[in-house]
Amino acid sequence: MLDSPRNLSELDHRTFRTDEFWRVIPGWKDVSAAEFGSHLWQAKHSIRKLDQVQSILGDRISPSFIEDIAAGLRIAPMNVRITPYVFSLIDWDNPTDDPLRMQFLPIASQMLPDHPYYMADSLYEDVDSPVPMLTHRYPDKVLFLPLTTCPVYCAYCTRSRIIGGSTESVDKDTYGPNPENWEPAFEYLRTHPQIEDVVISGGDAFNLTPRYIRLIGEKLLAIPHIRRLRYATKGVAILPMKILTDNEWLDALLDIHRRGRELGKQVVIHTHFSSPREITQYSLDAATKLFSEGVHVRNQAVLQEGVNNSIDEMVLLTRKLSYMNIQPYYVYIHDMVPGCEHLRTTLWDGVQLEKNVRGTTAGFNTPTFVCDAPGGGGKRHVASYEYYDRENGISAWSSPNVKPGELFLYFDPLHRLSPEAQARWNDSDSRMAMIHDVIRRSDYEISEKARTKIARRLEGGAVATGGKR
Ligand code: SF4
Repeated sequence: MLDSPRNLSELDHRTFRTDEFWRVIPGWKDVSAAEFGSHLWQAKHSIRKLDQVQSILGDRISPSFIEDIAAGLRIAPMNVRITPYVFSLIDWDNPTDDPLRMQFLPIASQMLPDHPYYMADSLYEDVDSPVPMLTHRYPDKVLFLPLTTCPVYCAYCTRSRIIGGSTESVDKDTYGPNPENWEPAFEYLRTHPQIEDVVISGGDAFNLTPRYIRLIGEKLLAIPHIRRLRYATKGVAILPMKILTDNEWLDALLDIHRRGRELGKQVVIHTHFSSPREITQYSLDAATKLFSEGVHVRNQAVLQEGVNNSIDEMVLLTRKLSYMNIQPYYVYIHDMVPGCEHLRTTLWDGVQLEKNVRGTTAGFNTPTFVCDAPGGGGKRHVASYEYYDRENGISAWSSPNVKPGELFLYFDPLHRLSPEAQARWNDSDSRMAMIHDVIRRSDYEISEKARTKIARRLEGGAVATGGKR
């Protein structure tokens, strides 16, 4: 159920925090604005272990809450990494409900068992990978993953199977940047003239050195048919100081941006604000700097229970981004990946939010709400399902241009269903009956091969492609 809007003022989005908010954290009460505003200080003081949380917060955090985090980390698929910037924006007087704490420091008392049909590689990025580090799903676009480390680790990460190093519950093949390993991807791009668009993601482009930002940019811009590059980084949201003080990194990006313009090609940044509470004067300054250099920035948010599945939060996020000249591009329905069932919302939340955000600002600043269809169907508009059984939380999707003839299933989190629907899910016969009913009612003709594929997936239950889970 979505919160009712409380009538945001039309000017609320123009307020940006300018106070020295980090000084309420006992361990950082004496840190100056100059230190806090330095990307080097931020990187050096990033939180990577639970005992740092305790020592920095002192008696502002209770032993029972620390134990709750410790228990959460024992089962979570992601390691801890938080910048001081984000850590200081958490309301430590009420960490249980804080939307930033929820995104970066999971607690066991909020976590739920994974959905029966979760997948470690829910989007089939590995399946649709012709050469290592590359996913080729849409005809003219690829996803390039040159590294799998980030400046923060998000509890909801869709690539938790590879990002950020092994945890107690998941073994991962995390890798850092190594140009020797990228050559097969570059060669694939050179020999596939239909590809025009490359997303350089990971991991996070903030963790690429200036040399690697240039190397990747130059190699890709030199391929005649490639017209668009997107450097993907959550950094603008969680470490805006890097844009403001890491001149070497920014110069590398601006050089590639300039070179792209000379060649008539687009070089942009894709970033990742999910909550308006991540936004301060630092964010506005970083966005303004990129804007003044002519760099276009687009935002991709992830819809999460308790974080942003309220009309006010989503409208405020949209308006703040627009005010900062960051284009609110996508809001994703949470992928069906392990360890974050408590963060998933229903598809219906997404449909309702879309309806309530649309009309609050200009159309070109209204994000498209999408469900990335599990099994590699690609991003589909939330209201474009073939059939949606809301009572049992089952939706069916087609993707005629990506995988014609196939049908894809998305499942709402079980804890959001009625007790009667949960009971049906607990009975394997009625579960199968209701899923097959949705397939039958879907107004889309699927091939026999696709039917067999779905049946195999349903019989197999959880289809994990890696890890100990
Ligand atoms: S920044 Fe992106 S890739 Fe890295 S942990 Fe967060 S969601 Fe995953």
